[in-house]
Amino acid sequence: MLDIAFIRQNAELVRAAIKNKRFDLDLDELFSVDKQRREAITVLDEKRARKNQVAAAIPKAPKEERPKLVEEGKEIKAAIEKLEPELAEITRRYEGLMLLVPSVPRPEVPVGQGEEDNVEIRKVGTPRRFDFKPLDHVELMDKLGLVNTEGPRRYAGARSYALIGNGALLELAVTRFVIDLLVQRGLTMVIPPVMVKERAMQGTGFFPIGKEDAYAITADELFLIGTSEVPLVSLHADDTLDEAQLPIRYAGLSPCFRREAGAHGKDTRGLYRVHQFTKVEQVVFCLPDEEIAEKEHYRLLDNAEAILTALEIPYRVALACTGEIGLGQTRKHEVESWMPGRGTYSETHSCSTMGDFQARRSNIRLRLANGSLVYPYTLNNTAIASPRILIPLLENHQNPDGSVTVPKALVPYMGGTTVLTPK
Ligand code: AMP
Repeated sequence: MLDIAFIRQNAELVRAAIKNKRFDLDLDELFSVDKQRREAITVLDEKRARKNQVAAAIPKAPKEERPKLVEEGKEIKAAIEKLEPELAEITRRYEGLMLLVPSVPRPEVPVGQGEEDNVEIRKVGTPRRFDFKPLDHVELMDKLGLVNTEGPRRYAGARSYALIGNGALLELAVTRFVIDLLVQRGLTMVIPPVMVKERAMQGTGFFPIGKEDAYAITADELFLIGTSEVPLVSLHADDTLDEAQLPIRYAGLSPCFRREAGAHGKDTRGLYRVHQFTKVEQVVFCLPDEEIAEKEHYRLLDNAEAILTALEIPYRVALACTGEIGLGQTRKHEVESWMPGRGTYSETHSCSTMGDFQARRSNIRLRLANGSLVYPYTLNNTAIASPRILIPLLENHQNPDGSVTVPKALVPYMGGTTVLTPK
């Protein structure tokens, strides 16, 4: 959410953000509702003040003037009772529109429509040239007995899977390796709730736009999270943080649930796009200062790159264009891992700066050392998401006989196993 004063003063900037981020919002409608709301508040305040004046005047007034005052009091009361629900309705419309206003992208974000307009920043590592016909992750996992999809698809539906044996151990190994790396780099581990109230989804910017992508537990008015960014940011909803507490750097471990409502028929082969996956997510709260936020952003990005480097996976980093960054993001880098089976770099991490967008929506305040009250900035980045990461992990480290060499960093986490061999 943006500050309405900022929106009024920077209308053209916000209009450009709506257009370039490809959202559909009539800013003039917001301005009109905002005006109505402010006028209604003024009228209501005046009426309430007059009501109090009249109430105070009645006992002191000469007897003959009292009936007139009592009558005025009644009229004001009736007017207030009519105005209050009108103001509530205007406020509801105002708040609904405010939730649709995107944040303004940072100046370095390229204007563009889709993925093709993202700007590549660097490639790290060289995709391996195979001197044999490499298998893709579906064939490798089948050969190595790492997954069962048939049963789960029967009893749990499309895109379901069960990791089995070394498949399950590999996910646990890579997750635990990443947690140790992040804790060593100063992040605090959190295992948060995965069912949250609508408010948390709205506060972090995943609702109302995007609501169709969440699984709802209707009986209890809860939603399954699509990322632990939601409960991690919401940990401080309605809090007033102290400047001395910042930066707060969390790493959340959770299952993530996504309906993938817009991805019908897309990425249906293997485990690239599934409805449930495990993710370690990094979330940072920092001072509302662009320079500090930029440092935190690159720190988060560096953590992801250190993980891929340790896993010996070639990757590329791209700066996402305006059409590819979400409602609240002011800057986003995609990290894409080389996936031989797909013959491309494909997204495994995305690193975002949110400005004070989430803090405003979640009512997270920050008391500065000088006593003033502001909103902190938040940032997030994937640390690891599995099973998607298993795709480059298996495909890049495969051998001609269908075995897979376990990257050195993971060997201690795999109980010393150095090679996964076919069944
Ligand atoms: P996001 O929170 O959308 O930026 O996604 C973070 C990471 O989670 C992605 O880069 C993927 O590695 C992983 N991911 C997102 N959606 C899916 C999905 N439907 N299936 C598997 N992995 C996913």
